[in-house]
Amino acid sequence: MQSDIDRILYHETTILSRLDEMAHTIAKDYEDKELTVVSILNGSFIFMADLLRRIPLPLQIDSWSVSSYHGTKSKGHIEFRQNSIADVIGRHVLILDDILDSGLTLRAIKDRLEAESGAASIRSCVLLRKKLQCEAATVADYIGFEIPDEFVVGYGLDYNERYRNLPYIGVLKEEAIRRHAR
Ligand code: 5GP
Ligand code: MG
Repeated sequence: MQSDIDRILYHETTILSRLDEMAHTIAKDYEDKELTVVSILNGSFIFMADLLRRIPLPLQIDSWSVSSYHGTKSKGHIEFRQNSIADVIGRHVLILDDILDSGLTLRAIKDRLEAESGAASIRSCVLLRKKLQCEAATVADYIGFEIPDEFVVGYGLDYNERYRNLPYIGVLKEEAIRRHAR
């Protein structure tokens, strides 16, 4: 698995110290507020576990399963594998996702929450944000790292369901992309 990685962008220790900073900011912003974190699975499961354990607030968690990617390309639309959402009426919602690319996923989730949830506020937090040629119209309120426009895996992020358990974030070798294409 490790030999399929062309180069490492962020080691685990770098990620965790960035999470310390993000958690500190989030904890200050939501102090004395009723917070519900909506986490987008599967990609954000490790990010969620590491970040939320650093936030000393009595928050609640709802996990949503959505998909928009096939291989290394976005399908251009997102599918909710979820029919019901947690009761967040009057609560402050923070959406957690692994990576902001085109912004389509975050936009769709925000739209659905705005339309259906009755939340007092809706913000978003991503571990990674790709710097795109044309700036994405959707931005996140909290961003871990800005990365180049490359396909990355590890720390929860997959390529056709592989590599999620790599402890770091890295760029796949072209050869591995071809080998695991489907
Ligand atoms: P967007 O809707 O912003 O284009 O894409 C967001 C979703 O696409 C993320 O939640 C993530 O699942 C997937 N994605 C986008 N870029 C990458 C990437 O570089 N690597 C991986 N593994 N997934 C990505
Ligand atoms: Mg995702």
